[in-house]
Amino acid sequence: MSDQIEVFGFEKEEIKDGMYEKYKGKKGQTDRIAIIYTDPKAMFAGSQIHYKDKFFLCKKGKCCEVLGPPKWRMGSVVIKYYTDKLGNLKKPFAYELYPWIFSERTFLKLKNTNSEFSLASHDIKVSCTNEEFQHLDITPCNESIWTAKEVLKKTILEGARSIWDFVKKSIATNMSIEDINELLGIVGTTTDPTQTLDLGDVLEQV
Ligand SMILES: [Zn+2]
Repeated sequence: MSDQIEVFGFEKEEIKDGMYEKYKGKKGQTDRIAIIYTDPKAMFAGSQIHYKDKFFLCKKGKCCEVLGPPKWRMGSVVIKYYTDKLGNLKKPFAYELYPWIFSERTFLKLKNTNSEFSLASHDIKVSCTNEEFQHLDITPCNESIWTAKEVLKKTILEGARSIWDFVKKSIATNMSIEDINELLGIVGTTTDPTQTLDLGDVLEQV
């Protein structure tokens, strides 16, 4: 068999439909972006997660005992305009849509900005202070470009739809309790307690 052929079951996670490159801040570069949404109550998708080798959904059990309290991880669809390194728009007007997955820290910065400058009507400039951990500084712009023209807005919302589906799938892996225990190296805790209950004992105690 050729080296390029792999053998696997359904556990292989690299195979997903609709892969998109995720938005990431780059050090020494300021981007001008905006969060794309139709409903302000559905701007973000997110969940409480843990990280060990990969991000996985918290099941409020052994995962928290071993790894500590879960953290929020969330995402949205963003538009990134074509700009120079300082985030100034370049001609011709161009943009790309990306899934953006981020941490609590970034969410709180967005929330803070939104309290003064609603992100519905203001683009933001994002500069990255730490690329590996995606520490981002966020400042509001005077206006929102993508919502300025109805035709442009409609095209962008249509383009964002499949990326939004991708965002929801990309927050974290939904692992079974058994798989989480295996990942955490916990052995022999998966037995259903009702199956090993000695009914004789229980009845004596009543
Ligand atoms: Zn947990």
